[in-house]
Amino acid sequence: MPEKTIPVFDGHSDTLTKIRHGGPDAQRSFLERSELGHLDLPRAREGGLVGGFFAVFTSSPKYERVVGELLGPDGRVVPGGRSIQLPAKLQRRIATSWTLSVMSDLFRLETESDGEIEVVRSVAELRRCLAEGTFAVILHIEGAESIDRNLEALDVFYEAGLRSLGPVWSRPTIFGHGVPFDFPRSPDTGPGLTPAGHRLVKRCNELGVLIDLSHLNEKGFWDVARISDTPLVATHSSAWALSQTPRNLTDEQLDAVGDSGGVVGINYAVGFLRADGNGTGQVVTPLTEIVRHARYVVDRVGVDHVALGSDFDGATIPDDLRDVSGLPRLIEAFRDAGFEEKEIEQIAYKNWIRVLEQTWRA
Ligand SMILES: [Zn+2]
Repeated sequence: MPEKTIPVFDGHSDTLTKIRHGGPDAQRSFLERSELGHLDLPRAREGGLVGGFFAVFTSSPKYERVVGELLGPDGRVVPGGRSIQLPAKLQRRIATSWTLSVMSDLFRLETESDGEIEVVRSVAELRRCLAEGTFAVILHIEGAESIDRNLEALDVFYEAGLRSLGPVWSRPTIFGHGVPFDFPRSPDTGPGLTPAGHRLVKRCNELGVLIDLSHLNEKGFWDVARISDTPLVATHSSAWALSQTPRNLTDEQLDAVGDSGGVVGINYAVGFLRADGNGTGQVVTPLTEIVRHARYVVDRVGVDHVALGSDFDGATIPDDLRDVSGLPRLIEAFRDAGFEEKEIEQIAYKNWIRVLEQTWRA
């Protein structure tokens, strides 16, 4: 008899953005079961997903992903390495318009769901949703291009329900610099936060908005570590020691997250899990790779500091996970790897609740 599955709260999905983008995904609704993409409400129910951070992300127009050779610090080509050109800064009006559209999608979805989905703004609301079986959505903006230097838009987004913010996606913003998708490469790829970035972190602290360190480069990470008075959180990153993409956290960064009482949401993207960084999905990556990263971070900083951050609908994930309905298989893989039920519960949702309690003002 299989044991009862453990509920999962997720650190990052791109589902809202993906559905708004159209293409084949325009034909699906979050409320109806589909075979497209990774996540919708019926499949979430099947897989035991009880809620998560839902990202609003603005793509760069006319961006072409150009893959080239990677040069090492000595200026020589790194054998087997690759470099991917990042898009330039995004214009604020483009980001604002898109962000408002995706936010309106979310609020309409909440209304249409007839009580099945709730955008949560406090830990009390989150706990009530989990107790009642209402799917709990945390509004997250990935890359703060829609926010002005004076942070006026931040106040408005907060009032609308924003509770988590990434100062950058990987391209630069007026607040800081993100990491490129080069491989293999250290996350120390450029300058730290700008003065506006410092103000952004302080204001997020005052409001009680979680600051997401995934995508931020290493100097920016240490700036946040110094300025912020809340636990350090990377919602969807894995361990750099196991897969040397700058999107993952080095041992020193993991230590800082642990020391601050924060969490790392282990990312399911195969390119961030695999030792060879192959993110194409053309080679098989077992879902046990997710467990391997979780184990590494647990051994390094303790089980209190590990969570899950799927990157559903934003990345290629292990085939044997397939989509959110496969989460019970991931839970089983944690059991097979020797994790105790109590530890799996922490990783699956309890650590997220603790960190939000320490971060949000209500
Ligand atoms: Zn991301």
